[in-house]
Amino acid sequence: MNVSFYGHVRQYHNIKDEIDANIREILESGQYVMGPVLKRFEKEFAAYHGIEYTVGVGNGTDALWLAFQALGIGPGDECITTSSTFFATAEAIWIAGATAVFVDSDARTNCIDPSKIEAAITPKTKALVPVHLYGQCADMKAVREIADRRGLLVIEDNAQGIGARGDGFRIGELSDAACTSFIIQKNLGCFGDGGAVVTKHEKVDRVVRKLRNHGSDKRSCHSPGCNSRLDDIHAAVLSAKLKHIDEWNALRRKWAARYSACLKDAGNLTLPYESPGYYHVYHLYVIETKKAEHRDPLLNFLNENGIDAKCHYPIAIHQQEGYPWGKGARIAGGIPNTERNAACCISLPMFPELTEQEVDYVIGKVLEWDRKAGVA
Ligand SMILES: *Cc1c(COP(=O)(O)O)cnc(C)c1O
Repeated sequence: MNVSFYGHVRQYHNIKDEIDANIREILESGQYVMGPVLKRFEKEFAAYHGIEYTVGVGNGTDALWLAFQALGIGPGDECITTSSTFFATAEAIWIAGATAVFVDSDARTNCIDPSKIEAAITPKTKALVPVHLYGQCADMKAVREIADRRGLLVIEDNAQGIGARGDGFRIGELSDAACTSFIIQKNLGCFGDGGAVVTKHEKVDRVVRKLRNHGSDKRSCHSPGCNSRLDDIHAAVLSAKLKHIDEWNALRRKWAARYSACLKDAGNLTLPYESPGYYHVYHLYVIETKKAEHRDPLLNFLNENGIDAKCHYPIAIHQQEGYPWGKGARIAGGIPNTERNAACCISLPMFPELTEQEVDYVIGKVLEWDRKAGVA
């Protein structure tokens, strides 16, 4: 049996009529850029979060650096984040001209460990940038408490957590901005690139709106910004899909629960940890091998058996040779949990349209490997 990693095409076929109707509406309207459908989607997305403002932009990386820019984060400033994330988190800090400071991630959730933040704060620290890694919220209450006490901004990298909740908090509620990506493989994906900034600050909304459109909020008047707009055709697709996101996230949770129940006795593996009271939306279902030397053999075994398992992320940002070290970033303290996760992580197929047969096939193969690894 072959089990793929993504289910975009299945998803499209499940709601083809809704998507096609929305796309046709755009094609017939002739309003392809900054039209009424984008405005409508921005309102829907803000309402979904229960947060005042949403600005659609070209991608998740731009959402981050435009939010940094709107909040006055730039050269000379430090942003505290984790190295256990997709490269774009730190890349956006670098694009803004600021310095990324990596602290360790929590051993169980792989999100930022709030107890490591305080020691990394310097007079240059301007913001905390927690990542809702794999679809589980970082501990935002602890992050917010530190930010309040130390006078720092908070920007959530929410590329992976649309629809997630924490214990008593929502995304966007405890931050200055929450930045999202709509690239197709994310939980809410358009048919290409897209992103958004969700914020309760009128000023952030106004400034990002201006920056994304060549620094223009009045016809023919400009200041330096960029071109990073969410196309109306993508907004039309997202508008159709937003109606289904909660149902899709519930299916991700159903498959995650099945994986976790059936793999709980696999002695060579550590399973994803759900913080009590949190609503994890499993953008990725990431297990770890207890021994780093087991990771590649398990990954290869799954791949050889037709299962498209992957690693997120096998090379943490601080291990990337391509990152502009020196001015671009530094590590604060040891980051052993980040390094363990990079060495041991494996992502099993996870998307709402999986079938029970596919999930059970994956489980069977993981258990088959685990039994052999235990003997070796
Ligand atoms: C996908 C992702 C981004 C970047 O989003 P793009 O739309 O690809 O620019 C940023 N941060 C994290 C954690 C991501 O997963």
